[in-house]
Amino acid sequence: MRTVYLDGCATTRVDDEVLEAMLPYLRDEYGNPSSPHAMGKRARRAVDAAAESVARLIGADPGEIVFTSGATESNNIALLGVFAHGDAAPVNGVFCPTDHKSSLAVGQALAARGVETRTMRVHPSGQVDLGHLAGLLDLGTRVATAAWVNSEIGAVQPVRAMAALCHEAGALLHVDGAQAAGRVPVDVRGTELDTLSLSAHKIRGPKGVGALYVRQGIRHRLRPIMYGGGQHALRSGTVPTHLVVGLGRACELAAERRDAEWRRVLGLRATALDVLTAGFPGVRVNGDPDVSVPHVLNVVLPGVRGESLVSSLRSVALSTGSACNSGSQEPSYVLTAIGLAAEDANSSVRLCLDPRMPFEDLVAGVETVVERARALAGVALPAGVAPAGVEEVTPL
Ligand SMILES: *Cc1c(COP(=O)(O)O)cnc(C)c1O
Repeated sequence: MRTVYLDGCATTRVDDEVLEAMLPYLRDEYGNPSSPHAMGKRARRAVDAAAESVARLIGADPGEIVFTSGATESNNIALLGVFAHGDAAPVNGVFCPTDHKSSLAVGQALAARGVETRTMRVHPSGQVDLGHLAGLLDLGTRVATAAWVNSEIGAVQPVRAMAALCHEAGALLHVDGAQAAGRVPVDVRGTELDTLSLSAHKIRGPKGVGALYVRQGIRHRLRPIMYGGGQHALRSGTVPTHLVVGLGRACELAAERRDAEWRRVLGLRATALDVLTAGFPGVRVNGDPDVSVPHVLNVVLPGVRGESLVSSLRSVALSTGSACNSGSQEPSYVLTAIGLAAEDANSSVRLCLDPRMPFEDLVAGVETVVERARALAGVALPAGVAPAGVEEVTPL
């Protein structure tokens, strides 16, 4: 059975061109990029070229790119690394309540160590309340952090304005760009970010590799969180050439395709919304589509348990939110942070729209979702809508 994949915020399929670029470095060019011989030098050139591709996507210099195992590690280095100095005066960090666990859990670990953690306020749109943020920052603030694009509702943060507030207070701004790369224009200079996390597998690259952009002028404010031999001494360990090459190629493709994909996804989102509203009257969109990327559509289907819906579908892959939190009985903390009642949060599902998906597949997938949702909620078919041929209901 073919799967309609609506879970691209959790991960994506490796692009064929990315895979092709990687294969030579698994088969023949397996030298260590730190080795002095010709094989090592060829691997080094491939790693350097990948750093250039990553840098070009985000408007950085290649020397500001540190390769990591993914956005989780990048967030850890950026957020733990600024608190690694011995602190005489009390210090604090400012966190965004709708962020990915790989930032929020670092905050919890820091709090356990005695660092004060402060929490931004977010509007119902998911965007950070800038006035409130300004009041949280003071001379003790080492860093504030937020995801540029939220992974559950797609809200885009005003990172340029956030950076200005942070810098006024002498703090750094770290941005988790895992969902932003390839979707919104990312220009680390124009937006004056200090550090930025990227992940390859969110942009059709391989799992297990990512990058941390570290602005040249602030490198001295970060300490490594792991010790060993290399890479600007901020992240040691043998550089996995094939993965890094895959990340580089994925960044090149993301840069080439971003604008065309954005336009296509706008059409996909409008279509998905049409099918949802026709098939499930009462459906509501979470967040604010006007300040969100079109790739993420998070909706409340009143009367339906989101978890039951996603786990009962065989031919459609979608989720209730972040993959890291699914399985927990708690309502999504992202949705509750933007003001949803627990009942609505528990009745929400997230559809991630893949720019390359054929419209027919999207329509078939969303029709399957609404049919099942109606069955679960005991809602009758709206008048005039013919039942689609849907799959059997699998007992839970
Ligand atoms: C997926 C994701 C991460 C984690 O990235 P990994 O590379 O899987 O560690 C972090 N932040 C956001 C916003 C994400 O979507």
